[in-house]
Amino acid sequence: MANNWNIPSWLEKEVRERDTSCVYCGCKFVSPKESARFSASWEHIINDARVITRENIALCCRGCNASKGQKSVYEWLTTKYCKERGITAESVAPIIKLTIVKGQ
Ligand SMILES: [Zn+2]
Repeated sequence: MANNWNIPSWLEKEVRERDTSCVYCGCKFVSPKESARFSASWEHIINDARVITRENIALCCRGCNASKGQKSVYEWLTTKYCKERGITAESVAPIIKLTIVKGQ
């Protein structure tokens, strides 16, 4: 069984347990009814929908997801969105740091 993003249910469960807050800005997720901005969304860290691994699938808030869009983590960290929110290579979740270390 897989969800709409072709993420197998075992991986979805694992990522949901790991990423209880946004992997980028660290906000706590709320239901989409409470806030669209702070509700959880699926993120491909490296923007390639074919890469479905525990290292590339994460949960981030819709605000960060919309801002990051097609950008690489590197590129995105230089944007005004990140600067205004103090999102840096040091502040992101460990799973994102891994991607940064690998230079992707
Ligand atoms: Zn966020």
